Amino acid sequence: MAWSLTSRTRAGWGRKLEPRGVSVIGVVPVKPAPFSYLRPESLAAAREALLRHGPEARILAGGQSLLPMMALRVAQPAVLVDIGRIAELRGVTRDERGLRAGALTCHAELLSSPVVQASVPLLSLALPHVAHAAIRNRGTLGGSLALADPAAELPACALALEAVMHINGSLGSRAVPAAEFFQGLYSTVVGDGEILTAVVFPVSASGEQVFFDEISRRRGDYAIAGLAAVARADQTLRLSFLGCGDRPMRAPHAEALAADARRSMRVPDRGELKAALATDLDPPSDLQASADTRLHLAAVLVERALRSWSAHGNASSQDTI
Ligand SMILES: Cc1cc2nc3c(=O)[nH]c(=O)nc-3n(C[C@H](O)[C@H](O)[C@H](O)COP(=O)(O)OP(=O)(O)OC[C@H]3O[C@@H](n4cnc5c(N)ncnc54)[C@H](O)[C@@H]3O)c2cc1C
Repeated sequence: MAWSLTSRTRAGWGRKLEPRGVSVIGVVPVKPAPFSYLRPESLAAAREALLRHGPEARILAGGQSLLPMMALRVAQPAVLVDIGRIAELRGVTRDERGLRAGALTCHAELLSSPVVQASVPLLSLALPHVAHAAIRNRGTLGGSLALADPAAELPACALALEAVMHINGSLGSRAVPAAEFFQGLYSTVVGDGEILTAVVFPVSASGEQVFFDEISRRRGDYAIAGLAAVARADQTLRLSFLGCGDRPMRAPHAEALAADARRSMRVPDRGELKAALATDLDPPSDLQASADTRLHLAAVLVERALRSWSAHGNASSQDTI
């Protein structure tokens, strides 16, 4: 076992519980509720730590979502298992099965990777929309997918690309298609004690076109509505929306309508498209936009995808309102 443990008392004292490689935390007033901190150096040690502490434990990856939630005390895990030093969770490789990205790969690394650009161009279109540079330097692919924010870009891309998530736990490993991975609002099939280890994205096929666009109040904000889309050479489409339900949502009726329109080189009727999207999606109403506005924006995004594919192939833009 190669992990170490410190514990912080209610007064903020650090107390050393394991001897190896531990730096003791001093008397520092902190915003989060008290927690213990583990930093395993292997997947096996991380699994063991998660198993030992059960639902009390939470995985820490880039910390860009979890730490703010802890500072606000929305999340109060008793034990943090920091997976940041586990080398086997890092790296991007391409083989005959597709592009495999380790869960700890940060957004900035994916964005600057020529292999990602050449193999899965949809990711390269979507990643500039994920937050800001400082957050992209720390936030990870696995963290974004495991958090499953319905307005996040990467879950919608994973769904549009039919990516496969690899999960490891004490009972072994399993591979879960993106369509089954997202279970609801901030909810996935990753169970207590399990770790999302990697994601395999199919490599873009010849003749395939991709599109990413979103509408947000300011650049870098979570989207009010967004679309990750793939048009295949066989004329079928995959439309995957963010911000239009409690999870990333495919839109089968709108896909059929848009594919028909694409075959006949036209843009579908806006009313018809919106009606199809109303069947497929379940957008929330909140302070940013009503459900009806989101359906309207979703229809506009589909029209943009069709126009941009007929004009110049793969495309991405971002509008603010
Ligand atoms: C100001 C701000 C703006 C942002 N804007 C956007 C945006 O526009 N779009 C967007 O998509 N995101 C945005 N984010 C979130 C950011 O992209 C995070 O990086 C991402 O959501 C979580 O990644 P992380 O590595 O930081 O995960 P963490 O914060 O460390 O963890 C997030 C959750 O996932 C779990 N987890 C992490 N890794 C794993 C794993 N391998 N296996 C199982 N569970 C795991 C954790 O236990 C935790 O519950 C923003 C964040 C901030 C602070």
